[in-house]
Amino acid sequence: MNTEIYRFKVGSFKCIAVSDGSIAYPDRTFFANASKERLEQVLHEHNIQPGEITVPYTCLVINTGRHQVLVDTGAGELAPNTGHLLQNLRSEGIEPGDIDTVILTHGHPDHIGGNIDSEGKPAFPNARYVMWKDEWDFWASEPSLEQLEVEEEIKQVLLTFAHKNLSPIQAQLHLIDRESEIVPGILAVAAPGHTPGHMTLAISSGREHLWHISDAALYPIHLEQPDWYTVFDLVPEQAMATKRQLLERASTEKVMVIASHFPFPSLGHVIQKGDVWQWQPIEATG
Ligand SMILES: [Zn+2]
Repeated sequence: MNTEIYRFKVGSFKCIAVSDGSIAYPDRTFFANASKERLEQVLHEHNIQPGEITVPYTCLVINTGRHQVLVDTGAGELAPNTGHLLQNLRSEGIEPGDIDTVILTHGHPDHIGGNIDSEGKPAFPNARYVMWKDEWDFWASEPSLEQLEVEEEIKQVLLTFAHKNLSPIQAQLHLIDRESEIVPGILAVAAPGHTPGHMTLAISSGREHLWHISDAALYPIHLEQPDWYTVFDLVPEQAMATKRQLLERASTEKVMVIASHFPFPSLGHVIQKGDVWQWQPIEATG
């Protein structure tokens, strides 16, 4: 299987999960409030060596027939093994100018890193860039990020990326402040907590549904341990409430789900298991 490109359909919408690359994080990054013993036990149950967890940066292309939509632009130059988005799109016959809508689920570096080209101009010249208003306002306010339990250096990366990758798209920006359709069949839904204006998408065509939960859950283990939050969750309590609400609905409505950092192609279903949930990845054969 190609580890960076996966084609699938939602009703008549032609979709492609496209990875921008991957990065290894210290495991504590994802499970900030888990005790060391419990975390080691859970990782062991998942056959994961304690230490580091490597995750993909999965973007999503949706060709609705009328619109060519890209959800998130990857991590760009964040790390040596990122910035693959454009070459992967081109290998699928998609040029940057073909994209008419870029949806940014939130303003973290790994979701906005490919917004601009090497000259600092918008990488998708014909696109409307869509973002939740609270999210834009948050990063534009040059926040201190004092609430995050990460090193100063990482806070600087977050702020520098936001400044560098958001300012240049201003002329093409479209902000939304309520649940609304971005293009027919793609509904923006507020999902705050990870960041103040973090958004998820309910994508529907015919009788098929796909929910893009972005970073509402960062790793499949969060379905089984919904009270474990990540060092990047700006408002952990709110992030946990949002996560539970989404997982509850996704399992009840049996929709297909895509989550930005779940093992590629990051697609599957959320299954209720007692009071918590479990991730059932799709059988990827493409
Ligand atoms: Zn992310």
